[in-house]
Amino acid sequence: MPGLTIRQYGDPVLKERAREVENIDGAVASLVDSMIETMYAAPGTGLAANQVGVQRRIFVYDVGDGPKIVINPRIVESEGEWVYDEGCLSVPGLTWEIVRPNTVHLVGLDLDGNEISTEGSELEGRVFQHELDHLDGILLVERLDDAQRKDALRILRSRSMDLRPSDPDGLSKLLKL
Ligand code: ZN
Repeated sequence: MPGLTIRQYGDPVLKERAREVENIDGAVASLVDSMIETMYAAPGTGLAANQVGVQRRIFVYDVGDGPKIVINPRIVESEGEWVYDEGCLSVPGLTWEIVRPNTVHLVGLDLDGNEISTEGSELEGRVFQHELDHLDGILLVERLDDAQRKDALRILRSRSMDLRPSDPDGLSKLLKL
């Protein structure tokens, strides 16, 4: 499967909650391979399935230990606080300092259907929270404080002015914000 197109801010698919995976079959395995390829090509640290237009609860990530996959992820515990200059492949070229819990306990399934139970701190913990947000239809723009958000929307609106109304990723919807 070739590299997939990463959906951009304004695409409605990014605002929907992705559905649970019921059968981990060959199609899921093939999707995950393409997602990993797409994440590295971007390049990015993590990628959620709905960022490539697939409404299923799957994300892939690599924080330096090779590619990892989580299916039907859930965060069952979080603690501490950590500030990180966070970005998103669906909102390219922009980062904001965002405070979130430092350590999170993530559970889910791997590609063989085995249970995963892992704790992530700092960058890894941040990736877990960011990708889980995607699967719940939440973008990092919604995690900004009021001043940051005002600034972000101003930039994103001015970007949308450069787009043709027929742009395929639906970025022109930004004009309605
Ligand atoms: Zn993202």
